[in-house]
Amino acid sequence: MAKTGTIFDIKKFAIHDGPGIRTSVFFKGCPMDCWWCHNPESKRLEPEILNNTRRCKDEVVGYDIDSETVMTEIEKDRVFYDQSGGGVTFSGGEPMMQIEFLRSLLAACKQKGIHTAIDTCGHAPFDDFEAIYELVDLVLYDIKLMDETNHIKYTGITNKLSLNNLTRLYDKGIKITPRIPLVPDITDTAANLAAIAEYLRALPNIRSLSLLPYNKLGEDKFERFGLSDRMGQAQSQTESDILEKSRLFEAAGFEVKIGG
Ligand code: SF4
Repeated sequence: MAKTGTIFDIKKFAIHDGPGIRTSVFFKGCPMDCWWCHNPESKRLEPEILNNTRRCKDEVVGYDIDSETVMTEIEKDRVFYDQSGGGVTFSGGEPMMQIEFLRSLLAACKQKGIHTAIDTCGHAPFDDFEAIYELVDLVLYDIKLMDETNHIKYTGITNKLSLNNLTRLYDKGIKITPRIPLVPDITDTAANLAAIAEYLRALPNIRSLSLLPYNKLGEDKFERFGLSDRMGQAQSQTESDILEKSRLFEAAGFEVKIGG
């Protein structure tokens, strides 16, 4: 049965949200409030009016849509998924915040043989993961900060639930690719990256991960929508910085992909 949810974008031909050519569906709503968020317009669950300071006009961000309409969009690019080993990625915001809508889309994709991934921060009741894990082919699992105090400071909430869920999902045997945003002087410190590597070494079936270098796209959106910018003058990492951080994980036995 069709379910209705709220999204803010459907991006075609995405190549950084999982394997192959994908359609990414961006859900509204997120339990975190990361300082560096590239999609600050995603945080509230409902559609909202934001003032676009560049165009000097109000813009509605987000819209309600039913799962059948989303599936129609997804299926249009089926040939590209089949040729490239791609599929669909449910992202956000946090797709786990609209669990019924997400479940209906995952079930429809499974029924049609379309590869699925979810991109999650992991902060959701485990019962919700129980409701969908058999329908998902790949979980892109964001790990930000291992120190709980820092996690609360920079994302607004504890990391305990998401780390606990990661271990429990791992125990289910699901394919998981950790994704680590490299945020200058916040998540990309040697101490935090070493702590993440140590944590993941205890999950031996996870042998590859993605590092997501910082880019200033989010700052552009902060300005465009008149939102507060907590990142100040943070600069993107240099190529050699990124390689150095990548080597830290490679030395711990991981295969590292730079970017999504
Ligand atoms: S978890 Fe992702 S979508 Fe949510 S606030 Fe953080 S960066 Fe933004």
